[in-house]
Amino acid sequence: MPAHDPQNSGDSPKKGGWRRWLSLPSHAKTPEAAPLIAPLGAADGELTPRESWLPAKRRLLAQVADFLIDHGLEILPFTLSVAYDCVTGGSPQLAQRILERTEKGLPVTLKWLEEAHSAQARDATAEAMAKLVGQLEDSLSDFGRTMAGARDANGTYSVALEGHVADLQNAGQDMNLTGGDLIDRLTGLTRHMLNHTRTVESELVASEAQIRSLQTGLDEARLLANQDHLTGLPNRRAFDELFERELREAKLGDETLCVAFCDIDHFKRINDTHGHPAGDRVIRYVAETLGRIADAKCHVARHGGEEFAVLLRGINLGDAWARLDAAREEIAQKRLVNRANDRPFGRITFSGGIADALAYRNASAALKAADDALFAAKDSGRNRILIAGNLPQPLREVA
Ligand code: GH3
Ligand code: MG
Ligand code: MG
Repeated sequence: MPAHDPQNSGDSPKKGGWRRWLSLPSHAKTPEAAPLIAPLGAADGELTPRESWLPAKRRLLAQVADFLIDHGLEILPFTLSVAYDCVTGGSPQLAQRILERTEKGLPVTLKWLEEAHSAQARDATAEAMAKLVGQLEDSLSDFGRTMAGARDANGTYSVALEGHVADLQNAGQDMNLTGGDLIDRLTGLTRHMLNHTRTVESELVASEAQIRSLQTGLDEARLLANQDHLTGLPNRRAFDELFERELREAKLGDETLCVAFCDIDHFKRINDTHGHPAGDRVIRYVAETLGRIADAKCHVARHGGEEFAVLLRGINLGDAWARLDAAREEIAQKRLVNRANDRPFGRITFSGGIADALAYRNASAALKAADDALFAAKDSGRNRILIAGNLPQPLREVA
């Protein structure tokens, strides 16, 4: 039987397959999967390179095949490249998202994969841009410091030269030296140097003005790198940074911190019925309503397609839930109309999961708890926000 044959795997294709294609041991007590690449030197020294690498290549191909078959995906250049990236560790974030989805028992369809792949590409671009902006900012501030130092030195030099010119003139007059010519020449030369330092001074001033304008450009670029283009809210990258910062501040100030995940209900239907641009307007509307609860200690970010993440510092879990639930209720009460054709959107709702961020070992564990609570909210009928209890307690709903 081939390695990807689900009949022979001992796991269901959905539950166990993903573990095989990532070379993780199965939950079932099957022998641990062989590593993807055989360690160097593991093979007998007598083997040819081809003989030692062929089994690894076969395993790699089998894992790519397992990935595609387990998820019922067609063999296309796109799915092959995603499968390759996932099994070789080239796309760890995408592989992680696929794992989480599979563990929830949700299908990894071609459409979902395309969206997850492009969201991940957007994240990677934003990440690269933010890194570049950070590097430029560092270089610019180094340059600024050098310029300021050069200006200071030039100013000191210029004052010294002015003193020399005066001294030389006095010496020429008072001493009435026979070498008056020499003094004149020295005075001329020193004046020339003085003029030169003044030119340098004005060039340095102009350079410093350019540095300030570059800094403004970089500030704008940083803002763009952190902002979601559709809603103007902080994007996922910015949220991750905000979360780490808020965690630090909450711990330092001995404050509470809650994190929530929200996801618009049946959003695909809105896109399918009204089209993608109308879907975008709905996302903007939900973003605006949620954004209104934001303040210095509450951050609302667009985490992905129609998903939002919220951080609430300084209020307890119950109050944080109530604040978010008020926004949910406000949206659920409205009856929106598609302004392109006056057709009603019907009721727009979202579901959410909220967790006490400090009850978990780190930010990603807290996010996962909020995401699990969101999943439970979807599962129990949508249009509600559930609170994640400290694991392993079951999820519970606030009445
Ligand atoms: P559920 O209640 O389970 O969340 O159902 P759903 O239909 O909302 O399911 P899901 O969250 O999987 O669907 C998200 C959809 O959002 C799929 C994708 O086409 C759409 N989407 C993602 N990003 C955008 C976007 O920027 N604009 C628009 N218009 N649609 C988007
Ligand atoms: Mg979603
Ligand atoms: Mg949804």
